Amino acid sequence: MHQHTLAELSRGLAAGDYSSLELTRHFLERIARHDPALNSFISVTAEQALAQAAAADRRRQRGEAGPLTGLPIAHKDIFCTQGVRTSCASRMLDNFIAPYDAAVVERLQAAGMVMLGKTNMDEFAMGSSNETSFYGPVHNPWNLQRVPGGSSGGSAAAVAARLAPAATGTDTGGSIRQPAALCQLTGLKPSYGRVSRWGMIAFASSLDQAGPMTQTAEDAALLLQAMAGHDRRDSTSIDRAVPDYSAGLDRPLQGLRIGLPRAFRGPGLTPAVAALVDAAIAELVAQGARTVDIDLPHMELSVPAYYVIAPAEASSNLSRYDGVRFGHRCEQPVDLTDLYTRSRSEGFGAEVKRRIMIGTYALSAGYYDAYYRQAQKIRRLIAEDFERAFTQCDIIAGPTTPSTAFALQAHQNDPVAMYLSDIYTIAVNLAGIPAISLPCGQADGLPVGMQLIGPYWSEERLLQVAHRYQLACPWHRQVPPAYA
Ligand code: GLN
Repeated sequence: MHQHTLAELSRGLAAGDYSSLELTRHFLERIARHDPALNSFISVTAEQALAQAAAADRRRQRGEAGPLTGLPIAHKDIFCTQGVRTSCASRMLDNFIAPYDAAVVERLQAAGMVMLGKTNMDEFAMGSSNETSFYGPVHNPWNLQRVPGGSSGGSAAAVAARLAPAATGTDTGGSIRQPAALCQLTGLKPSYGRVSRWGMIAFASSLDQAGPMTQTAEDAALLLQAMAGHDRRDSTSIDRAVPDYSAGLDRPLQGLRIGLPRAFRGPGLTPAVAALVDAAIAELVAQGARTVDIDLPHMELSVPAYYVIAPAEASSNLSRYDGVRFGHRCEQPVDLTDLYTRSRSEGFGAEVKRRIMIGTYALSAGYYDAYYRQAQKIRRLIAEDFERAFTQCDIIAGPTTPSTAFALQAHQNDPVAMYLSDIYTIAVNLAGIPAISLPCGQADGLPVGMQLIGPYWSEERLLQVAHRYQLACPWHRQVPPAYA
């Protein structure tokens, strides 16, 4: 059963080949067997999952099942889940039981999905390797000595090892697409405002966006359908009709204009990755698309701009963890300052502290104009680069990451090397536009991802192109040998 996609499992449930209870038990058993070596889950909610599965089976018997009813899913531990620990992989929230469900969780639950548990991640989603988690690193199922990518590394490893048929992730600078690429999955970062951020623990609010991590584009369409939509509780959620994401998946690619930016061919790109991405683009051309060279002149400024804006927003968002209302509190504080200082010193890990310091500095009175305002101007220029590019092409294609999964601890003492692993994903978040990563082959036994980027609200188009590619090149069918 675990070899199947969500779409296939949905048909299996509808045909009565198995019940949701059987399916859920199967995945829970796989988690128990395989997760000790992967560390992809922070919490497994077995009892609740079995109860939800039984309820889904009853719903089906009443004739009220939808396409997602009874299908298991894992949620990144950044989404609040009522009555269940929601840690954001931080010691700060190790003891935090969320009092309500995030909008994404609520919607998928209303569609009848069964939550298997909460997945590991970088602390407060800050990282590209899943090594900053308070609960320890996640291992890549394709090679346990390698990172799964981050920050949604637990979600990626769990789906790649088929411990869950799909998972949720969040993407502030690449955290859905980068781990999807390194684990051979499909990961979609929707347009900013498409999916509600309500109940999703904030990292950098103007960049954060939730999305699906799945085996296929077809599955991503199914999940996005349920996740997307307006929510009054999130002031940046956009009130715009949600199209039928599955309806146009099969449409041919005739006439599609694919933009190839020179900026995606920088010196950091490994030749093996470049070759596989070129071959994938050639496949799209063989299906009727044509390529155009485009320029994104400010692309190289995206990493420095992001590493001012994201920490600035993070420093503000994380000020709420003060040891007073919830989260970690130090033992026997002598006064209020001691309570704040020690609770935060003990509760946050090194990367989170680094970001808070950078962000506080960038926002301080003397430096605001020099750093924060400059970064915001660059952000605008990057968004305009994309707008201009999309007058010449329908989508942009390139690599998701410069290399395949790196070894655990490879970038431990070099934060900048870590930051550069997001060089191809970050500009997309600064512009607010959607992008998808999909598997396009392997180099030395490690997965490589191709990234497709589109203008605002082009999720349908991205899913269609990804689906057409996957019909011809089924890399997504490969399962790491130890988990087949
Ligand atoms: N790796 C980037 C960072 O560390 C992006 C993380 C994310 O998308 N959450 O900030």
